[in-house]
Amino acid sequence: MTRKVEVAIIGSGTAGLNAMGQVRRAGKRFVLINGGEPGTTCARVGCMPSKAFIQIAEDFHRRKIFSRHAISGGEGLSVDVGEALEHVRDLRDIFVDRVLGNSTDNLGDEFIQDYARFIAPNRLQVGDEEIEADAIVIATGSTPIVPDVWKDLGDRIVTTDRFFEMETLPESMAVIGLGVIGLELGQAASRLGVEVTGVDAAEVISGLTDPVVNQSAIEIIGDEFPLWLGEPAELSAEGERLRVRAGDREVVVDKALISVGRRPNLDALDLENLGVELDENGLPPYNPETMQVADLPVYIAGDVNGDLPILHEAGDEGRIAGYNAARSAAEAFERKTPLAITFCDPNIVTVGACWSSLEGRDDVVAAEMPMGPVGRALIMAKNKGVIRVYADKKTGRLLGGAMVAVKGESLGHLLAWAVQQGLTVAEALQLPYYHPVIEEALQGAFNNLLEKVDAKPGAPVGLKRKVD
Ligand SMILES: Cc1cc2nc3c(=O)[nH]c(=O)nc-3n(C[C@H](O)[C@H](O)[C@H](O)COP(=O)(O)OP(=O)(O)OC[C@H]3O[C@@H](n4cnc5c(N)ncnc54)[C@H](O)[C@@H]3O)c2cc1C
Repeated sequence: MTRKVEVAIIGSGTAGLNAMGQVRRAGKRFVLINGGEPGTTCARVGCMPSKAFIQIAEDFHRRKIFSRHAISGGEGLSVDVGEALEHVRDLRDIFVDRVLGNSTDNLGDEFIQDYARFIAPNRLQVGDEEIEADAIVIATGSTPIVPDVWKDLGDRIVTTDRFFEMETLPESMAVIGLGVIGLELGQAASRLGVEVTGVDAAEVISGLTDPVVNQSAIEIIGDEFPLWLGEPAELSAEGERLRVRAGDREVVVDKALISVGRRPNLDALDLENLGVELDENGLPPYNPETMQVADLPVYIAGDVNGDLPILHEAGDEGRIAGYNAARSAAEAFERKTPLAITFCDPNIVTVGACWSSLEGRDDVVAAEMPMGPVGRALIMAKNKGVIRVYADKKTGRLLGGAMVAVKGESLGHLLAWAVQQGLTVAEALQLPYYHPVIEEALQGAFNNLLEKVDAKPGAPVGLKRKVD
């Protein structure tokens, strides 16, 4: 049986649903095909349950500073971890229901629950059905990587696909891989009483390339649980438990969270039938501004292209792909200033150009603001970390920055907005800063940066001359 449509979308995650929105707006006949659980990675096992889990851990952790604020009884507080995880799942269900209620629940036979694979650039095999489409959007997401050598460790290891399904947390856990996910869940688990050991083969955490911010983040997080950096982890079964080795350090734990990255879901798509050369990871060539694959009527959006595996980028890519799939010519769209947040405490944030791409250039300057003296941070008992900002030396145009700072999630947005608007550091200082707020730390970093750039305004810092 062959069904003919104008657009076929493979994957009903964030990218696929955003693509569908554009295709619908254009009034095109479409099918949305999803293998696996619908409801999006974000809502089911990603952004939302992880943030719910982190919130509980952060609230519980707050008791540790109560005595400093003359509040007694903090040491008597306890958390029922099983119930906490149930609460996370309840919230997760609400988020998933919301996604389904606004999307696939309202589709009739336009929604197919099965896996799709290419048999030609414009034809898909989905179960017994063949779909012929004028354009196809690939939005199949990604899957946690578990190295083959660890696969027979059974449920001694866990990935984010199952983490929130656990009835309770283990007494001890190694976190293998200290990128965004490992750091967020590792710190939260530690704050909920799990004896956590963090291991990463690299000397950096959260993918930081700025050495000042990386060092500060390691010191702060390393104060809460041990971080073994610079040696790859080796895992072996130890009875029901797990022995973890990294260099000459070793520990026996109940479980390991494997957070060594995610692999694009390309394998089952038979992309060789597109007739274009695939790279060593099996990815076809595509244009990140149109999302078009080679010159085919095929588009690839979201985690599956492995480029920017974060939610707002998946949404943008889905909208670009859907918009173009519904039209005959592929239009290019500007991409946003990079912004990445690790929701550990304090937040780790990177914005714009990463330090590794700027380091060593004499046309670039950087300045920092330590969080220690920031008044509002001190009041909150969160005055740890540092903000670093980068600018073009001659013009003072902001290029980006990195930080480990309380409310970094908000500061990062302000910095990203300033970078994307093409502001100079002097212009960024002309914006309002209330007092006393954490944003004053960013203001401090900008003040220090202004000292280093050539383009200094004649007017007092922060003021703009009135022009009649
Ligand atoms: C623990 C965790 C925390 C995260 N936290 C954040 C965060 O705080 N902020 C943030 O920005 N990002 C976060 N992310 C990343 C974010 O969730 C992803 O970038 C985003 O969900 C990707 O959306 P997507 O549409 O590309 O993929 P998905 O939502 O995974 O959708 C892909 C869909 O395609 C289906 N599929 C796969 N293969 C096929 C096939 N052959 N045929 C048909 N269907 C198929 C899958 O079953 C799935 O439903 C987090 C991720 C994780 C795992």
